[in-house]
Amino acid sequence: MNTRTRVTIDREAVRQNVASVFARSQKQIFAVVKNNAYNLGMLEMVGTLMEAGVYHFAVAEVYEAIEIKTNFPDSYVLAMNPATQFEVARDYGIALGIPSVDWLKRYQADLSNIELHLKVNVGMNRFGVSSLEEAQAVLEVVQEQQLCLTGLYTHFPLADEPGADHDGQVERFLAIANVVRTQHEFTYMHAENSATIVKHDERLAFCNYVRPGIFLFGYSPIEKMDWLVPSMRMTTEIVEIREVGADEHVGYGTSYTTDQPLRVAVLPVGYGDGVVRGRSALPVLIHGKPYSIISKLFMSHTFVAVDSTVEVGDEVVLYGDGIEIDDITRTGTANNSEQMCARSWRLAHRYL
Ligand SMILES: *Cc1c(COP(=O)(O)O)cnc(C)c1O
Repeated sequence: MNTRTRVTIDREAVRQNVASVFARSQKQIFAVVKNNAYNLGMLEMVGTLMEAGVYHFAVAEVYEAIEIKTNFPDSYVLAMNPATQFEVARDYGIALGIPSVDWLKRYQADLSNIELHLKVNVGMNRFGVSSLEEAQAVLEVVQEQQLCLTGLYTHFPLADEPGADHDGQVERFLAIANVVRTQHEFTYMHAENSATIVKHDERLAFCNYVRPGIFLFGYSPIEKMDWLVPSMRMTTEIVEIREVGADEHVGYGTSYTTDQPLRVAVLPVGYGDGVVRGRSALPVLIHGKPYSIISKLFMSHTFVAVDSTVEVGDEVVLYGDGIEIDDITRTGTANNSEQMCARSWRLAHRYL
């Protein structure tokens, strides 16, 4: 355990973000907690979200849904990837996404008493029916087999891409959704991910749930949002300070050379701990003051150019106090979700 590098996850921040998303969307929340809740810890995050009034969760795989249902039997969980564990889904009461007409036809005999959510593909071309004809084919199988179709949803892949035809993709969804919902009653209609929620699209007013992930954890897939509260803080401490002369390299290779004598602090953290290499483009904070990372970020070490006020043992803020995971996105090297998912659990973790 790397106890000198500490991660704090703030549950109150998550609760505040839930309240803000409720207030802004005026809809119920289907919280996306795939990948161990964006790597913040599935059970802690689901527990926190439930305290904040969220009972509906979406994950990619059935095993993730089992983890939630085992620990929180009152939760409602949708597993969105094409699944084949039907007995398990039935036993645990896990809802499954319908990824295609083929899938539904192949497994129609296995799906009794499993709640199903019909996915509409509007352009990501990952899962979902792509035309009204396909949606009608789904409704036919549902009727014939008396299946339990309770949900209708889509996912907008262009919502966080400025200038892309997101509107056209909303229209594709409406062309299907507005017909099928006159033919079948859906309990759960959900489309808006984080980036779509802030568009307040009236055409999606019929959706009674929003389906955010990253907003709940305090980060934004688009521009910074001042109403979000970042949930993760990462600090480390200086383990060594060196007075390096001019014309010396620092770290492996020759990519960094001092042009004058330099006081260099060594941090015991690197990409092996899941700090993405693009982090070197952003300063760290020591006593609240920004200092530059120099050389590259290495597996277990990072170098920082410091001044005489900095000493061995001083705390170094990698994420927090205004330098946030969101800032990684603007380095153009990685995005915020990637940094969240990369972070190692071998760092010391604490929940507030
Ligand atoms: C990950 C995911 C979301 C959540 O997206 P955010 O940008 O984190 O809000 C919603 N729906 C689906 C299908 C997803 O895969």
